[in-house]
This record gives sequence, C-alpha cells and structure tokens, in this order.
Amino acid sequence: MQGKHAVRMIAAGVALFTAAGCRPEDPQLSAALESFSADQLAGAIQVLASDSFEGRAPSSPGEEKTIAYLEGQFEELGLAPGNGDSYLQEVPLVSITADPRARLTIRGAGGSMRFAYGSEFMAWTKRVVDRVSVRDAELVFVGYGIVAPEYGWNDYEGIDVRGKVVVLLVNDPGFATQDTALFTGNTMTYYGRWTYKYEEAARQGAAAALIVHETDPAGYPWAVVEGSWKGEQFDLVREDNNMSRVAVEGWLSLETARTVFTQAGLDYDVLKERAASREFQAVPMSATASITLRNAVRRSTSRNVLAVLPGGDRADEYLVYMAHWDHFGRDPAMEGDQIYNGARDNATGVAGLIELARAFASLETPTRRSLLFLAVTAEEQGLLGSAYYATNPVYPLPKTVAAINLDALNVWGRMGDVTVIGLGNSELDDYLADAARAQGRWVRPDPEPEKGFYFRSDHFNFAKQGVPALYVDEGIDHVEHGEAWTLARREEYTAERYHKPADEYDPSWDLTGLVDDLRLVFRVGYRLASESTFPNWSERSPFKATRDSMMAPAR
Ligand SMILES: [Zn+2]
Repeated sequence: MQGKHAVRMIAAGVALFTAAGCRPEDPQLSAALESFSADQLAGAIQVLASDSFEGRAPSSPGEEKTIAYLEGQFEELGLAPGNGDSYLQEVPLVSITADPRARLTIRGAGGSMRFAYGSEFMAWTKRVVDRVSVRDAELVFVGYGIVAPEYGWNDYEGIDVRGKVVVLLVNDPGFATQDTALFTGNTMTYYGRWTYKYEEAARQGAAAALIVHETDPAGYPWAVVEGSWKGEQFDLVREDNNMSRVAVEGWLSLETARTVFTQAGLDYDVLKERAASREFQAVPMSATASITLRNAVRRSTSRNVLAVLPGGDRADEYLVYMAHWDHFGRDPAMEGDQIYNGARDNATGVAGLIELARAFASLETPTRRSLLFLAVTAEEQGLLGSAYYATNPVYPLPKTVAAINLDALNVWGRMGDVTVIGLGNSELDDYLADAARAQGRWVRPDPEPEKGFYFRSDHFNFAKQGVPALYVDEGIDHVEHGEAWTLARREEYTAERYHKPADEYDPSWDLTGLVDDLRLVFRVGYRLASESTFPNWSERSPFKATRDSMMAPAR
C-alpha cells in the first residue's frame, strides 16, 4: 500500500499545479473528444484480429492484408501519405529459423548430458549464417552479467570469457534484493533486460550466452520463452550481418540450469544469492558446452505505415502517435488453434491509432504542428520497425516533439487512474497528469516496475535516440471492481493469453476504459501540437544528454 499512498501525494501535487493552470475547454477539442466510440474500436479490432489476417506476421500474407487495411483507413480519413507520396517505409529484414532438432550437450566430471530444444533450453543465433557451432566451450557463471560503472558494478571483472559460454541471470540485483539503494530497486533497469545481457556478453567476447529462466525475474513463464523464440526470428539487416554478436544466444529452463550446476558440483541457489552482492565474482563451472544450430535464412522487406495530418504555422514540427501492427502470425506445427490473433497485443493499439487519426482529422482548424501516425512492423521480433524508423527517420528527430506509444490497451473497463510506464522520465508526465485531471483521474507509476515494460515496446527506440517518449498503460483502479480485480484480469491475461493463440477478440470486453485512455492521449497530443514548446527529459533520465545535444543550436 505504501506505493499507493505515495502516488496519491503525487496526484495531489499535480492537482495543485494543474488547478493553477486550468483552461476553459476549447469547443473543437470537446467535439473531437466526443467522436471516440467503443463500437468503432471494436470493429477495427475484430478485423485486425480476425483469422483471415493470420496473426499479422511480418513479411507474410497477413502483412499484405494489414498494410492494405491501414492504408485504406488513413486514405479514407483524408490523411496524407507520410513518406513522400507513399504511406509506406520499407524495412529490410532478415529472418533466421533454427532447426529445432538442435541439442545442447554439457560435458563435465560427471559425464555428458544432452538437453532438448524447446522444453529444456532455447537457442538461436542472430548471425546471418546457415550454420553456427560452439564446441566444448568452457562454461562460466557470471551472475547478472552486468557492467554498470554508474553503480560501481562489474560482473566480468577479473575473468576472461573470450570464446567461452556465459551462464547468467535475468533482471538485476536491485530486483533480487528489493534494495532501493541497489540499481533502481524493484524497478528493472535496462541492465536487467535480456537484450542487454546478450549485448554485454558480445562486448566481452563470449561465444555464447545462456540466461537462466525464472518466471518472477523474467516477468513471464517458460511457455513465452519457448513460444517467442522458436520458428522464424527476424532482425534488421545490419552491415556486419550480426557477426559482432555472440554466436549463440539462449535460455536455460530453471530445471536444466539446476541440473547443470549440480552436475558441476555447484549450488545454484547459493550462487544466485551471491550474484546479487557486491562481493560476487564470476565462477568457472568446470564443464563445457557444445551446440550446433542449422539455420534457414530468408531476406524480406516489411513495411512501416506512415500517415500525416499537416499542421499550420509550425507544420515542420511533428508529434508522433505510434503502435505496432504485427504479431506472431500462424504456427503450422501447432495442434488446434495455430493463429496468434494478437487482439489485445496489438490490434487494440492499431485501432486506437486509427481512431486518434479520425479525431484529429475531424478538427475544423488543424493544429499548429503536424501529426504523424506511425504503425510499425516487427515489434514482436525485437522492436525492429521502430528501431528502423528511429535510425532512418522520415522527419528530422530535432523537429520531432514527442512520441506517444499505444501497445496492448485496456479491455477491462473504466479506471479511476492511469499508469505511466517510466513515470518521472520526462516533462510529458505533466501533460498527462493535466489531461488526467481534466478527466477526474490520477496518475500512477507502473504497478509492475520489475517487469521492465519501458524497454519492451516501440517508444524505447525513440527514447534511445533522445526523443521524449510517453508510454501510457491502463490503470488498475477499476471504477466498479477496484484494483485487485484488475490485477487478477492482468495476471490471467499474462498467464493465459499473452503471446499465445488465445489472445483473441472477446465480445464481452468493455472498451469504455480504452476510449478514456484514447481521449487522454488525444488531450496530451492536442496540447503539444498546439504549442511551440519542446518538452524534455527529466534531469536524471539517461536520455536527456542525447536530446540536449540534438537540440543544441548549431555552432
Ligand atoms: Zn505489443
């Protein structure tokens, strides 16, 4: 409950501020807010999440349908093509499908063990090659595998892991100890993200990196690991064909990890505990690992969809609304339901993007700044479409005021609160708090900060380039049923539907809360697009320096 009390304080503080800055509602804003309809949203979600869209995999027939649908919607609303005379930005992709007959062999004093792909370990390579092999490479346990100078932390100190296989833990020591003085306590840092672990292992010259999966620190069950990494894995085409990455990236199930540690005469639980202390030192495991991955490599082009509503006197400045249109497609190897419909993730966000475009297009007087509606591809494959746009922007980033991301929106009804993932990161929070106040709602930080949601969706790529990015999530304080009810709904979704074929449209969904959230981000965007200010990151944000140098007047 401590969290909640603190948040009320924040809300009260924010209320004081906005009360001072309260403005009479301008009529065209009210009319636009009125235009949002749950039925319209439900219609779009049903189309996008229908079996005929085949789970909207990048570079698939499902992509063709999705792109055509989006172009049609934006054209119908009178939005201009966002990339010259095209609504599309091509995103060159390469996909690698590892042969699931791969085996992981661990040899140690007690003999050798072979583990099965999928149920006991997952592995893939990002290197664009037909075959990759690690043979009898030494295993080293490197704890959390983190090098964080700002926290005086280096798990690779005093050990040379070049050509070796590092075994490591997911999340960070702050989560493990719940010590607010360690990293950022229960709030996952980027160091806790699996993406960081593989990046750091590559910098250290390791041949392979295997993360031990545990549901709590990972934030999702083993089924999500198995489901997300089997089959075709996409990546952006990179100059070095990813040869600078470790040869093999992967996860060990907890059971497999325990077996490997025990076989090596090591106690996993004792070492895991020690890994969260400053005294930790990497531990050679006197065992070796071997694995060969045979890959099918496919090059393809997917598309981001861009539509623009030109502004008035500041038309060369852009506010971005974004949502990823892709999901996991169809898995022909599955029994029964093979289609990952992705209704909540992210047909709701795409439907929301279209409805925001409709509301802004309904304004009699266009806003001063232009609006870019950006539907990105390959989010599920590693935030690829947004990474491509953020590094190949159609509109200059110094002229990009902010990015507002919509991903997996609220389907459970009206909430008295609203969640900001990464609350405190930027001045955009004040805009949102003001808009929430106008709705009689209050702002809360992420109720599950240990899950690292700020790093798990497309706004993160804009943030990395310095553009202030807002990621609003549904509240949990249901106006009728309260918090526990909503948390139970969220848990059920994560366990039963998240990244599974069961994420399907449900006619019993209550989309009135989603309408509230769209009105909220509409208010934020309307205000930003009507101003000349450039909101910035907060002083302690790791992204501020990038923005400041980008915005600094050319000398
Ligand atoms: Zn998503």
